[in-house]
Amino acid sequence: MAAHFGQLDPTQRVLMGPGPSDVSLRVLRALAAPTIGHLDPEYLQIMDETRQMLRQVFQTNNEMTMAVSGTGSAGMEACVCNLIEPGDEMIVCVNGVFGGRMKDVAERYGAVVHAIETNWGNVIDPQQIADQLVKFPRTKVVGIVHAETSTGAHQPLDEIAKLVHASGGYLLVDAVTSLGGIDVPIDGLGIDACYSGTQKCLSCPPGLAPVTFSARAVDAIMARKSKVTSWYLDVTMLKNYWGSDRVYHHTAPINMTYALREALQMILEEGLPQRIARHELNHRMLRAGLEALGLNYIPDHSLTTLNAVHVPAGVDDAVVRKRLLNEYNIEIGAGLGPFKGKAWRIGLMGSSSTLQNVTLILSALESILSDLGYSLTPGATLSAARNAVGLSAYAQTV
Ligand SMILES: *Cc1c(COP(=O)(O)O)cnc(C)c1O
Repeated sequence: MAAHFGQLDPTQRVLMGPGPSDVSLRVLRALAAPTIGHLDPEYLQIMDETRQMLRQVFQTNNEMTMAVSGTGSAGMEACVCNLIEPGDEMIVCVNGVFGGRMKDVAERYGAVVHAIETNWGNVIDPQQIADQLVKFPRTKVVGIVHAETSTGAHQPLDEIAKLVHASGGYLLVDAVTSLGGIDVPIDGLGIDACYSGTQKCLSCPPGLAPVTFSARAVDAIMARKSKVTSWYLDVTMLKNYWGSDRVYHHTAPINMTYALREALQMILEEGLPQRIARHELNHRMLRAGLEALGLNYIPDHSLTTLNAVHVPAGVDDAVVRKRLLNEYNIEIGAGLGPFKGKAWRIGLMGSSSTLQNVTLILSALESILSDLGYSLTPGATLSAARNAVGLSAYAQTV
């Protein structure tokens, strides 16, 4: 049976969930550019430019910096499977979904995982890592999530980086919801392996996972006794494709590379510090507005890119999200794990982090909550948002 569905025509949404974020027209146009061969000299030039810009956004000189084919989770697997040989010991910090995923991935590649757990919403205390390193001195890799998208927790890394290096280990960081929105100084902190995804603060469609490895990490990978367990994600082979040799490994997703290149170009045009400051400003406004609505933040150290708040008692989480989508075209995220039905996750990532979106979500939430019988002072949320940053900063963002 031949099926006819008509022309594809998805609705334009306002993406304020845990990712994907809004994609600018400039990036969408890049996706629609002509597909060329993946060994075409023009494409090789585009790969080079993409790598150079990735290094700037990662704030690193690492030679081994590239975009792995696949989403953020492929970046996670690439970092784990290259650094870990079966039987290697690894500490994984778990305070949400993505720390839990890293532990699962590490175990699948044969790591002996010594997990450190803390309550969802809290960050890992460096002392926990210091203690675990004393207990397990053979630890090779310490894995931690910088921006835990499931809880909105922003993990400080400075002290942890020092502890890991003092132990001789390798620090592996998940920067999926921080790269391009929050400072991720790879060389400044001496992070040995880091991965991200295109659809969060880089504001590209999902499909590529930027990764970077320090020279020290690359040495360790080249000195492995066993082959990397994953063929597809083997950096020792990918390096010859992304490097000057251009040895065919697998066909890169050409048009996604165009999109990433354009998104990185936009980040550098805006300026990385300016972009980080924009995320801070919009977060402060949103936070003040949400708190004026009586909504409380879950994490003690909140990300600027992802705002996780408790659903107020007596309010049906799903009803509110459904109305946001149907009446306002806004997508926000639901709670995961222990926060299922109990949290809203509001993303302000990349192109989605705008005054316009802050105003829209606050007005929409105010209107829906008041319909549901919540008693509110009309307009209080927006004035709280503006007062949080002062009129002059507010005016600059318009
Ligand atoms: C989204 C996310 C991932 C996984 O990325 P996918 O693109 O969904 O595979 C990993 N870690 C964090 C912190 C994330 O937010």
